[in-house]
Amino acid sequence: MNLVFLGPPGAGKGTQAETICKRFGLAHISTGDMLRKEMRDGTELGQKAKSVIEAGGLVSDDIIIGMVKNRLKQPDCTAGFLLDGFPRTIAQADALGGITTIDLAINIDVPEQVLVERISGRRMCTGCGAGFHVAMYDKSTCDKCGAALYIRDDDKPDTVSSRIQVYNEKTQPLIQYYEGKGLLRNVDGNRKPADVQAEIAALLEQLQ
Ligand code: AMP
Repeated sequence: MNLVFLGPPGAGKGTQAETICKRFGLAHISTGDMLRKEMRDGTELGQKAKSVIEAGGLVSDDIIIGMVKNRLKQPDCTAGFLLDGFPRTIAQADALGGITTIDLAINIDVPEQVLVERISGRRMCTGCGAGFHVAMYDKSTCDKCGAALYIRDDDKPDTVSSRIQVYNEKTQPLIQYYEGKGLLRNVDGNRKPADVQAEIAALLEQLQ
């Protein structure tokens, strides 16, 4: 089962991906998490990506496609994977189609005004990269590894509007792209996480 999660920043892709991957034994591939790790480790790629990410833009297709191509060669992907945050452009989707087969693209739909409120409450772990929301978890340290939590630079209000604009321009067309291939399923993401999860799980049960 090879899946793609589509949806704007703040739709809940990461939260849903974590539980769905555990439940269905899939590899969770978040390009955002991979890039943040590169930045934490201070690699050349991380340094190149930093300014683009902090400005709310997209890292170049070549870099991202190369990164995903390598990741998909890892043994944990043979039983299936879930791509979270990739593809984000038509060029990325075309490249993905040349590397592997996608069984389903799930679009988590959330109205724009809700996204800003959700993103402003988001906190990340400096140690393991786990994500939290202050409405559900208001501590300053991570419950998984104990490291301090922080607010992502690109979650600050000025950058959030750029990210949503970039999403509308570059990524939203992928909804039609996968619809045209008969692979798209829409899920209402403006509900409690458990309800969204139940609907996604039901879609995936049908696929198995
Ligand atoms: P995310 O955690 O998915 O919101 O990603 C954080 C940031 O990483 C994005 O705003 C982009 O700057 C960059 N990024 C993540 N995935 C991609 C991608 N597939 N293509 C280009 N840039 C990406």
